[in-house]
Amino acid sequence: MRKYNLPIFIPHRGCPHDCAFCSQKKITGVDTEVTAEDVRSLIKTFLSTTNHENASVEVAFFGGSFTGLELKTQEDFLRVASEFYPKVSGIRLSTRPDYIDKNIIELLKKYGVTTIELGVQSSDDGVLAMNDRGHSFDSVVRASEMIKESGIDLGHQIMLGMYGSNPEKDRQTIDDIIQLKPSCVRIYPVITLKDTKIHRYFNEGKYIPYTIDLAAQLAKEAVLKFRENSIDVIRMGLHSSEDLEGDENIVAGPYHPAFGEMVESLVYRDKIENQLQSNGVIDGELKFVCPVGDISKAIGHKKMNKIYFKDKYGVELKVCTEK
Ligand code: SF4
Repeated sequence: MRKYNLPIFIPHRGCPHDCAFCSQKKITGVDTEVTAEDVRSLIKTFLSTTNHENASVEVAFFGGSFTGLELKTQEDFLRVASEFYPKVSGIRLSTRPDYIDKNIIELLKKYGVTTIELGVQSSDDGVLAMNDRGHSFDSVVRASEMIKESGIDLGHQIMLGMYGSNPEKDRQTIDDIIQLKPSCVRIYPVITLKDTKIHRYFNEGKYIPYTIDLAAQLAKEAVLKFRENSIDVIRMGLHSSEDLEGDENIVAGPYHPAFGEMVESLVYRDKIENQLQSNGVIDGELKFVCPVGDISKAIGHKKMNKIYFKDKYGVELKVCTEK
């Protein structure tokens, strides 16, 4: 069955925090207030313009800390989304771990929320503090347990290369997340956006962002570990948007509009390299067989894997779907 996700961005509403990396309005590409009426009209338009027969449609409230909104506002949004059941089959939302408690969970369950994504970012309390997150990893553990016990699906969002972090701490975050068994994760390398605190730290030389190679390498390691543990990786890297990319908003950091594709290419590169090391080159060719849908990943974003094997081993990578 086909799955549609209808993202509705609620920028920075309900959030009194000011995390060092956050420039919410630029990330979402929206800077106006969203009303329940806007939500109704977005859903109506989506349902009338999309063939959703035999498909599941999930409404996703992203962009801020949903459960930090005033209760009435949360209810207004959820009520509107739930009016569209069963054409809408689920509601997903993102929030902070310290904005989850029993009452909130009850409210979300009442309106049929199916997935809660927690902004975890790091499992290192020092890193969380340096980025002014205002919560510790304990809050993540507590909220995650509560969500799982309620029967709502749990998602986690993590960041690579935060201010104060390093590859070792990021790897530890990946391992700590696995222990909490979310059903899905999003992986975001930190991008330095204009007018954030990390922009200032960057200018002062206190923050050195990851390179694209390091971020992609760590994301690849994360993907492999998460998949090994049956955790779905549903997003890697920020969505590109005119607002994000325009007006010199991106000051520094490993931003790439096709970051996820690059990481998937690295996953395949490892598989191909393993095959090369065990089987060598046959008839002067490095022939690699993969499912038809994965050919572009095996060849690599902008043929990066073909180029890699040519440069490193002097061999021609040939990707095919049959032996
Ligand atoms: S809690 Fe979320 S929305 Fe609020 S400042 Fe931090 S990252 Fe931004």
